[in-house]
Amino acid sequence: MQKMSKKEELVYKPKNVWLVKKKKDMKAFAEDYRNFVDVAKTERLTADEAEKLARDNGFVKFEEFMKKKKKKKKGADPVRDLKIYVKNRNKSMALFRFKNDIRKGMNLVGAHLDSPRIDLKPRPFIEDSEVALAKTHYYGGIKKYQWLNIPLALHGVIIKGNGDKLRISIGEKADEPTFVISDLLPHLDKDSRDKPISKVYDGEKLNVIIGTIPAKVVPKNVKEKVKYQILRILNNKYGIIEEDLVSAELELVPAFKPRYVGFDNSLIGAYGHDDRVCAYTAVRGLIDATDISRTSAAILFDKEEIGSEGNTGAKAHFWFSAIRRILRNIGYTDVEGIMDEAIANSLVLSADVNVALNPTFKEAHELNNAAKVGYGIVLTKYTGSYGKALANDAHAEIVGKLRALWNEEGVIWQPGELGKVDQGGGGTVAKYFAQLGTDVIDCGPGIIGMHSPFELLSVGDLYETYLAYRTFFSKFV
Ligand code: MN
Ligand code: MN
Repeated sequence: MQKMSKKEELVYKPKNVWLVKKKKDMKAFAEDYRNFVDVAKTERLTADEAEKLARDNGFVKFEEFMKKKKKKKKGADPVRDLKIYVKNRNKSMALFRFKNDIRKGMNLVGAHLDSPRIDLKPRPFIEDSEVALAKTHYYGGIKKYQWLNIPLALHGVIIKGNGDKLRISIGEKADEPTFVISDLLPHLDKDSRDKPISKVYDGEKLNVIIGTIPAKVVPKNVKEKVKYQILRILNNKYGIIEEDLVSAELELVPAFKPRYVGFDNSLIGAYGHDDRVCAYTAVRGLIDATDISRTSAAILFDKEEIGSEGNTGAKAHFWFSAIRRILRNIGYTDVEGIMDEAIANSLVLSADVNVALNPTFKEAHELNNAAKVGYGIVLTKYTGSYGKALANDAHAEIVGKLRALWNEEGVIWQPGELGKVDQGGGGTVAKYFAQLGTDVIDCGPGIIGMHSPFELLSVGDLYETYLAYRTFFSKFV
């Protein structure tokens, strides 16, 4: 019989970060992240922030790199830590560090940079009872009532008739207006009191209040004077007409700032931890790794919250074709063959948040397999729902390798399941990597109040997630 090593304990007990790690390192990293998530409020803004980090740390833009043709010398190794980033339509991106022979496999971390939010419809503006409203269509899985009566900021782009692109950001600064979806007062909600919550908050009731002052002078055929006044304000400020809103992407997100939560400042409350925390820690992990064990990438996808569709989502594999084009540019031939080998030998960490136990709603979890705040990054062997349906169930061999690495390097981690069997579930980008043939495993920090306007993340789990990804890039083979 094999004997236990001195390090091993017979009974498994996850470790609490706060009892074994130094607070100083965690807090410094938390400040960096807080500044990031404060401005990274949409998929485009998150990609912009990641691009700044990449450029500040010696990464070259894909298009700039491709302009210079490189020749591969016979026998020479042309890729000694080559740093390139590629942006895909300003909504998804990948940061690469190429090293040695890519056939040996890659260490990839895939996160998503979109978060649940409330989008304006293509014809958003209406007027009802002399109040101007914007019609919306929510994006991703939200509990609608959580988004009522909170200040919302508006971000996005408008493409004008002449092709000009306007960037819009209103509501983040204290002197700018915000927008609100206002709920019915409790005194008069008799009709809705006995209805299930899903029936009370109909999607078509998520109308945002945008103004109340009627225009004094309007053309003869215009009846909606308040709406007209809003259009006039927008025309004066941005030079746009109502039709321009059809070619726009305008997103309402919570207007409040990330804040520490609790007397002990142990949590960060913010909008969009899912999944900007993984995007940030993956990018920082890749940038900060002093050496990488093999070719590595942090890949940030859009559209995860609505099923990874579209050419900026994880189903589109934009990062894969970028690697092939980079290899061709360096002078490799048989790129197809190289990529077949590379993919077969690669491991992807599907970096997405899991749920952390909220003690007030314990009944949704099976406590022995529920992740807890402060116990480090959550290793999620499978996601899915109702019998692991649609899950990428990671192989035991992969779980074994990763846990051994993290134990060796002192990364605090815990296993976790997304709630009780038959309670519900969810998915990540894992399966879209798996379709190519790579090994994939889900891991990320646990969140309390996921998909709410103010999600909670442990400062300790944030830091361990960063260490977990950094260690993966620098040591995993
Ligand atoms: Mn997510
Ligand atoms: Mn999500």
